[in-house]
This record gives sequence, C-alpha cells and structure tokens, in this order.
Amino acid sequence: MSDELKLEEMERYQRQLSIDGFDEKVQKRLKDSAALVAGIGGLGGTAALYLAAAGIGRLALIHEGRLETPDLNRQTLMTSDWVGRSRVMKAKETINKFNPNIEIDAFDEPIKPERLETIISDIDIVLDCRHNFPERRLVNTACTGAGITMIEAAMNGMEGYLFNIIPGKTACLSCLYPEDPVWDPYGFPVLGAVSGTLGCLAAMEAIKILTGLGEPLINALLHFDLGRMGFKRFKTYRREDCKICGRPSLHDTRVSAKTQANVSAESICR
Ligand SMILES: [Zn+2]
Repeated sequence: MSDELKLEEMERYQRQLSIDGFDEKVQKRLKDSAALVAGIGGLGGTAALYLAAAGIGRLALIHEGRLETPDLNRQTLMTSDWVGRSRVMKAKETINKFNPNIEIDAFDEPIKPERLETIISDIDIVLDCRHNFPERRLVNTACTGAGITMIEAAMNGMEGYLFNIIPGKTACLSCLYPEDPVWDPYGFPVLGAVSGTLGCLAAMEAIKILTGLGEPLINALLHFDLGRMGFKRFKTYRREDCKICGRPSLHDTRVSAKTQANVSAESICR
C-alpha cells in the first residue's frame, strides 16, 4: 500500500474528485494500482498518458524499437527530434514530466513469455496495445495463466474494438479469435485521432476496473467506426474448448469457428 495522498495530489486531482462516486478512496485505489501497457504507440501511449493523468501509482511500459518519422502522425508522447532513439524511453520521460508522482518502469524489448511472466508478477491490470496478433496472443496467454485482468484494444483505419478479459469469467482473445485474421501488422492504416480515442477508452476501462467506479464492459465487445461515428456493443461468449482459457478435457474437441458465433450479431445497444 502506498502513502496517503499528498497535498499536491489532492490539488492535481481536484477536478476528478468531484465526479459522482470518485472520492478519495477511489483515488487512493488508483494510486495503489500498477498497470502494464504493452505497446506505447498511438494507442498504448495515449492509454498510458491518461492513466498517469488520472493518478495511477505505477506504470510498466514495454515496447521494442526506435522512433521513426511515420510514427509521428499519432504517437503524441514523442517529439520530432527523438527520431532514431528508443520510443519507450521517450514515453517514460514525457509521462514523468507530465506527472512526476507516477513510478514508471520502461522495457525496450520484445514481448517474450518468460519476461512477461516476471513483469506481470506484481501488476494489477494489463493493457494489450500491440500491433500484431502473435504478441497479442502471448499477452493473452500470460494474463489468462496468471489470472490478471487484461484490456484488449485494437484498431485499423477508422475502426477499433475494445473488450475486457477477466480470466475464468469472460471470453479471452482466443475465444473470440481462434485464428489470426489476415492483415499486415506494419502497414495497416492508422489515424492519430482514432488510436487516441481508443487509447482513452482503454484507459477508462482500466480506471473503472481498478477502482470499482462505474460499469466496465463485461462479456461485451465495443466496436466503433469513427468514419460514421458508429458505436456498437456486442455480447461475447467464452468457448469451453478454448485452447487458452477453456476446459483442458475439451481442447481436442474441434468446433469450427464458423459454426460457433463468438460475438453475437445482435447489437445490445445503439
Ligand atoms: Zn479463451
């Protein structure tokens, strides 16, 4: 448990402390929480920044690679003079300057199962913001195995989706996507305002789950198309034969992904 809220923190968070249900206890819960953001591009960078803005206690950031000029249409934690240098280190520096109260561990390395296991051992929630399915699956497997709640957020062009994975209770990534979709992990279109919107939505879900504030998405997937400002929620289901979170005795029972709808076509809200 961390110390009580400092006077500076009470002043910094004053405007959110006047939200219905967002009292000092909620703020303290957030301060006592740690989140791993896997991927700090346009999506994860935004999510990390808004978690820091809200006053999360600790952030772990993992992202391998150096900043390139085409990253600058969306990665707002970066600066133009940083091209060629470590992105995750710049993300740490920017967030540190923005809110020095946040403890930040930055890892400039690829997602590897053993390392992930170590990094998440003292983490409360994971935000999966990677740009490719193989790494998303590694994060899903690690979180499901460790019983850590994970927020799954992905985008393509003007569209994005978001759902929460609560191990043993809700569908995991493999329940919804037993097979990898066909897409180009590096060349898919990205608009900064779209990845930023999704980053904010993911941060919002993390804040709610960590503090008990509001109602997070449970057994539901949010899909949006910002090109026409369409937002829809779809009901999701766990697959009993899921290779990651299902019952081991059913793992060899082949159920075609095509014969079992994972996401109900019936919209449960507008
Ligand atoms: Zn599953």
